[in-house]
Amino acid sequence: MQNLDTLLNQALDDLNGITDPVELEQAKARYLGKGGAVTEMLRGLGKLDPDARREAGAAINKVKERLESALSCRREAIQAARLEKQLAEEALDVTLPGRGQGMGGIHPVTRTLERIQGIFHSIGFSTVSGPEIETDFFNFTALNIPEDHPARAMHDTFYLDEGHLLRTHTSPIQIHYMMENTPPVKIIAPGRVYRVDSDATHSPMFHQVEGLWVDEEVNFTHLKGVVSDFLQRFFERETLKVRFRPSFFPFTEPSAEIDMGCVFCEGAGCRVCSHTGWLEVGGCGMVHPNVLAHVGWDSEKYLGFAFGMGLDRLAMLKYGVNDLRLFFANDIRFLNQFN
Ligand SMILES: [Zn+2]
Repeated sequence: MQNLDTLLNQALDDLNGITDPVELEQAKARYLGKGGAVTEMLRGLGKLDPDARREAGAAINKVKERLESALSCRREAIQAARLEKQLAEEALDVTLPGRGQGMGGIHPVTRTLERIQGIFHSIGFSTVSGPEIETDFFNFTALNIPEDHPARAMHDTFYLDEGHLLRTHTSPIQIHYMMENTPPVKIIAPGRVYRVDSDATHSPMFHQVEGLWVDEEVNFTHLKGVVSDFLQRFFERETLKVRFRPSFFPFTEPSAEIDMGCVFCEGAGCRVCSHTGWLEVGGCGMVHPNVLAHVGWDSEKYLGFAFGMGLDRLAMLKYGVNDLRLFFANDIRFLNQFN
């Protein structure tokens, strides 16, 4: 009986110290299994006389029951502890903000183009496009820039095989369009253009937008009105000053540079406008009779004007971006500002 008490206490101590389910099963085998301590005791009952055997048997069975119940308690406790631990490890803080998918935004150059199109469409212009790989004829000759003309040297052209080249301006789109249509035409032609040039304000690929209006009664006053109105609406400044400075382009006569009052210093002079109060935004002029002749239109009957502006430059001025390369570097931190 004394051995039995000792065994019970030792076994209970043993079980209570166990935290691993495998160890618990091993302990069960140690006490209640085939060769277990309790089983051995039951086996030894045969040596006792009947009265003692009954008494001892009952006592051993009680110990067996106590151990079985202690085992199942311990099993449940281990399981509960495991579950608790798992829940703690996998805990979710439902108050944390979600990661979300993140919304993309429209690229500032595209945004600028859409803005330009919106303004010109509202006054009857439509948008046309043309190929980026051009022939010498469309890029130069048809625009009154014959071979050996000094203007060709200014264009820093990317030449390709067999007389092809990457267009250096959007003006060849006008030629394609005029050849396939008859007057009147009132179009804008935006697109990518290419020149061998790269620094903070020049990129080998950049964007221009070209405008062309040809009809029987189109004159320089219309040109000034359309361009001024466009710039005032684009920069949302009714009082924006626009001036036309005499210049030279082979494909227009007369020709002018388009300047507008500096949007950063209101004309007082700053670093952006080189302290002149003016910003150069494009070129324009009346379409040269030679250009109309190249597309087979009667220059005695039709007059027109054309203008070209740097789309990226307009975007830089509109959004206050000081390095053209930012538009094409695909830096998400920069682009996110336009979402
Ligand atoms: Zn300025």
